[in-house]
Amino acid sequence: MAKQYRLKAKCPQCGCSAVMHLTPEEIEKKFGNVPNAKLECSQCMEKYEVAMKDACPEWDKECQAMK
Ligand SMILES: [Zn+2]
Repeated sequence: MAKQYRLKAKCPQCGCSAVMHLTPEEIEKKFGNVPNAKLECSQCMEKYEVAMKDACPEWDKECQAMK
């Protein structure tokens, strides 16, 4: 089974937090190989961006290591 990474973000609009568990494939499919992840709040539908290094330091680290 592929390793899963935990992404954590907080909506700037309503403050509700989102947690996702994604495999590297899912992260790349969902966000692409970018430093910022685009998210949509499930509560208020606000679209916002979070820095990948804040949302998922572990993924960011491995991402850097693969370069
Ligand atoms: Zn929100």
